[in-house]
Amino acid sequence: MTPMERIAAVCNAEIPDRVPFLLTSREFGIKYSGFKHSQAYEQPQIYIDSQLRVLEDFQADGVWDIWCTPAVDEALGATMDIPEDDPPWIAEPCVRERSDLAKLKRIDPEKDGRMPYLLDVVRRLKEAVGDEVPVIAWASPPFRTACMIRGNTELYLDLFDDPDFVKDLLEVTCEACTAYGKALVDAGADMIATSNPVANFDCISLDHFKEFAHPYSKRMFGDLKAYGAKWVNFHTCGRWNDRYDLCVENVDIIHCDQVDLKDFKAQHADAVAIMGNVKSVSTLLQGTEEQVREEALSCLHSGAPDGRYILSNDCAVPRDTSPSNLRAMRDVLAEYGNYPLAF
Ligand SMILES: [Zn+2]
Repeated sequence: MTPMERIAAVCNAEIPDRVPFLLTSREFGIKYSGFKHSQAYEQPQIYIDSQLRVLEDFQADGVWDIWCTPAVDEALGATMDIPEDDPPWIAEPCVRERSDLAKLKRIDPEKDGRMPYLLDVVRRLKEAVGDEVPVIAWASPPFRTACMIRGNTELYLDLFDDPDFVKDLLEVTCEACTAYGKALVDAGADMIATSNPVANFDCISLDHFKEFAHPYSKRMFGDLKAYGAKWVNFHTCGRWNDRYDLCVENVDIIHCDQVDLKDFKAQHADAVAIMGNVKSVSTLLQGTEEQVREEALSCLHSGAPDGRYILSNDCAVPRDTSPSNLRAMRDVLAEYGNYPLAF
């Protein structure tokens, strides 16, 4: 099977030839190839080559775009900072007063901010890997972008003080995030990946999640799938226990974090494929090869029976992860990940 067929199989509830393997490898891959993060924003080929190396050396089943989380936020007017060797972040929001909402313009993904560069990277990645390997591209959900362009604290206060303002803002961010997602699909993205760490259990109540975050994400994901995205992959960063039943709507893969894989799969595998969850920091970054082997094998035991499972880490692979730890994960998969399973 090709990587594309393998991912399609788990999303269609069919059994692939082996458990698929995805590594959220952006910053790790850049360093592994000998470059600094900021260089990936200067020469597209640096980033393309880093993903091709990860694909080949670790037998991953997909490549990731630069996963620039603030791309839409910047296009809407917020100020993005790109540190020398860390991912970019929003240094200055642009909706300081509620009246600033009226100044937000409709974005053009082919022209605004760094989006043309990011779309060019996706086009080059698709050209490099062809039809057999999925290109996975990151698009911000509307609530996350609203938090970034307004400021987190301000937006959380707005939820109580001026819910109508928040909904007006979310209409703007939903349109912008969806427009960028469609441009990613046009550029060759097979899978749209997203995460919404500002909307988890530790950040907002379930009632606020139902009113302000979920409906806009669900609409965006549905629109992107109708537009041609083969799959939507939602990384549930942090704790989402009271809202997973909503997160699966219009989503194909949940990239989980901090869950018991077996329980999680029992509850949600009818709705989605499950991706995870070797611990990125305490195991991949800080653990020994033996600890990685043990945890990867434990994940296969919990997740792989009956398919619907993608072996992965639980959050981004840290930049300074030892390549030998990722090789250990790959080797466990080669030894134990083929269907029919030997255990
Ligand atoms: Zn995460």
